[in-house]
Amino acid sequence: MRSLEGKIAVITGGNSGIGKATARRFAEEGAQVLITGRRQDVVEAAAAEIGHQALGVCGDVSQIDFHQRLAETVRRKFGAIDIYVANAGVISLEGSSRVTESEFDRHFDINARGVFFGVQAVAPLIRDGGNIIVTSSLAATKVLPQHTVYAGSKAALAAFARNWAIEFRNRGIRVNILSPGPVETEILGKLGVSDADRPGFEAHMADLIPAGRMGRPEELAEAALFLASKGTFVNGIELIVDGGMHLT
Ligand code: NAD
Repeated sequence: MRSLEGKIAVITGGNSGIGKATARRFAEEGAQVLITGRRQDVVEAAAAEIGHQALGVCGDVSQIDFHQRLAETVRRKFGAIDIYVANAGVISLEGSSRVTESEFDRHFDINARGVFFGVQAVAPLIRDGGNIIVTSSLAATKVLPQHTVYAGSKAALAAFARNWAIEFRNRGIRVNILSPGPVETEILGKLGVSDADRPGFEAHMADLIPAGRMGRPEELAEAALFLASKGTFVNGIELIVDGGMHLT
């Protein structure tokens, strides 16, 4: 039997990169998936590509009313869900002295506030015994150049997740963090690294990774699948999936 047969999973940022690979993997394992993203056409195209009757809902995770609308849609369509993956996130690299107020707010609004209010809205709909996966980053625990604001916005997630694991214990809901190292997704084009500098940047990253290469979205999806399915005794952890980059 497939490991997520009959389960319902909601994945924010499921129209791209790690989120889309996770949605595809969950669907292959029998889950009904609902993905979210910012652009209607991209969300619809991704849902069609994932197949298995995947659904898409469009909206901005930094807005609280989006999460309320999503929760209402989920309640109407399914009544309850089993897995919530808070994956949507943004990054742009900048030295602290050059960070603007709006870039600071954008990181915290999407990466931290978006996760907090997403879980607040959806948690009442998660069935007892379900689980939450929060996508953080290796940058939350490892110092990387120009990552300070991004790192801060992701570091908050570990504290949220630890507290939620205890808050939801009576419902048997597990809460875990998935922290990728560098992974080949569209986010790499949004770092603020110029096209000319990109090959050098990627070569430098790969050099810092004992595996000698960046990760693939499918490798993160496999780790998320473990947390969502077979990892029934895994709770309150941060699973770092980085090819060993935390060691260098
Ligand atoms: P991606 O750019 O391919 O996907 C990001 C997703 O987040 C997209 O679906 C996008 O629509 C969504 N998103 C961004 N801002 C949003 C908003 N305001 N409202 C709604 N949706 C929004 O990148 P990815 O690499 O797949 O990133 C997924 C997660 O993994 C992010 O949280 C990212 O911080 C984290 N991460 C990625 C890497 C990496 O190297 N790729 C490393 C560490 C952590």
